Formats: sequence, C-alpha cells, structure tokens
Amino acid sequence: MMVDRLRTVAAALVLLAGGPACAGTASAPVLASDTAVASDAHAVTMTLLGTGGGPGGRVDRSGIATLVQIGDRNYLVDAGDGVSRQLAHAGIGDVEIPVVFLTHLHDDHYAGLTALATFAYTLRSRNLHLVGPAGTDQLRTALAAMLQVSANIRMVENRLPLTPDQFLHATQFTQNPVYQDDRVTVTAIENHHFRFGPESPAATNKSYSLRFETGGRVIVFTGDTGPDPRVDELARGADIMFAEMVSAADRLAVPPQVLRHMDEEHLSPTEVGLLATRAGVRKLVLTHIGDVSEEDIAEVRRNYSGELVVGTDLAEIAL
Ligand SMILES: [Zn+2]
Ligand SMILES: [Zn+2]
Repeated sequence: MMVDRLRTVAAALVLLAGGPACAGTASAPVLASDTAVASDAHAVTMTLLGTGGGPGGRVDRSGIATLVQIGDRNYLVDAGDGVSRQLAHAGIGDVEIPVVFLTHLHDDHYAGLTALATFAYTLRSRNLHLVGPAGTDQLRTALAAMLQVSANIRMVENRLPLTPDQFLHATQFTQNPVYQDDRVTVTAIENHHFRFGPESPAATNKSYSLRFETGGRVIVFTGDTGPDPRVDELARGADIMFAEMVSAADRLAVPPQVLRHMDEEHLSPTEVGLLATRAGVRKLVLTHIGDVSEEDIAEVRRNYSGELVVGTDLAEIAL
C-alpha cells in the first residue's frame, strides 16, 4: 500500500516538473489517467468467482475458482464448474484470461476449464497457458482434442488463425518459482491431500499450495490439503490466505469410505484457524467450502484472531 502511495506521489511530482508524462500534450484529463495507470501496475484485486468445494453442482456456490488481478493482468487460480459464467458476472471475458494455475487435478478444480478454454479459443484469444502439477500436460492434450471437434467447424466458418493445439500451452511444476513475470512470482509446495503408495496407479499425482508475491505483498492459496508443516511455512507472514475448509455438516454428508480423506486430507474449522495463527496470516478467507454454520465460524475464531472472511461467490476481497 505504501509503495503504491509513493509511486503515486512520484508520478505526481513528474507531472509538476513537466517531465516525460507531460511531453507533447496539453490535455490534463489524459495525463491524470496515464498517471493512474502507471501507479496501479501492482494494484491487487481478488474476486471469489466460485467458492464451492468438492465434485457436483451446487445451487448456492459455483465451483472453486479465484481471480487475482494485478494492475491490468488477470490470473486465475483453479477453474471449477461455472467459471466462464462467473467471469462474465465479474465483467471479465473468457479471452481476458491468459493463464490458469491448477493446484491439483481433482475434477472440481478444472471442470469449468473446458468451457473457458473453448470459448476463449473460439473468440480468438491468442493463447491459454495452464500451469499445474504433473498431469497438466495430459489435461492440455485432452482439452486440445476436445476443442478440435468444434474447431473443425469454427476454423473454416470464422477463419480462426490457430489450431487448438497451438492455442493451448502447459507448464508442469518442476522447480520454484513455478511462474514469474514482471508483476508476480508464484511458488508452489506439495501439500497433504493425496497419499498414494509407489505401486498405486495414482502415484504420480501431487497436490500443491501456492504463494503469490507481488509488490512486497503475499497471497497464499492452500488449495486442498490437510494440516502440513510445509503449508505453514509457505503461508508464513501472508497478507491474505485463501483456505479450504470442511465443515461439520460437510463431513457428515460423505459416505463412510471417504471419511478418512475428509478428516486427514482436508482442514477442519479448528485446523484452518490454527494454520492461520501459526503462519501469522493477516487475513483469512474461507473458500472451497460447503455448508458453513455459526458454530464452524466460532470454532475458526477460537483459534484465530485476525481478519476473517467467509467466502461467497463474486465477493471482492481487498488486500
Ligand atoms: Zn477440491
Ligand atoms: Zn481435491
């Protein structure tokens, strides 16, 4: 925040001094606008596009997806069911999402990617880049094959310049940072959401938590995870943490064979509060949730005294 203020002051001084921003124009309103754009390059806005956890459609929450806007850049974290429509609600077109981060490859985290990708392609986005764990290459190939079915028509009808295979890109997590540009650096660490032995057909699958650093500020996504000291470390000192939570009602709604997964590989209200406290998180936002009761919220608060937001779809979250 302070950095932004300093940038604004610096830009204003340039204007007063008749510096480069003034050159060649006498239009005061244009200058004011240009100054605002320059000073807002690292301004952060976050929108909870969808806050629902787990597979299956819900009437009260769209699938998990969070939009991070840094200046004029859009970054999407997970792409649950309904994300294209939720972006429309937020005033963002499918073509305005150049990169999607996937915390892991459970279907509730990418079910909406099919619509987002195919509409972005048809509407002439230049490319879509998926950044995620091992398996993201496979997802990219499968998505490209699906897009090609419509592209067989659209490429002729609309003279689209790219094939789906040229349009879709994927980078799998190998080393940190997993992504970097002039606005943000993204770090991923493996968390505790899967436990497969080396002989399991699912053994190559891993789940991750993500840390975004931009302009001296830190935004953390737990993704789906149980308690894990690696997540504590990743979230250390975060300005904001988007955390999953399984409520008491969510726990009771699953069949018996899924209970161990819910108890050990997700966060209870007690555990999410303790995590936020251990990591010294300034603001905790609950998302990837289901039925949250007053008692669940009280349990989080018993273990965490910082700012707490219970996520609702399309809520804007200030840093
Ligand atoms: Zn999930
Ligand atoms: Zn999951």
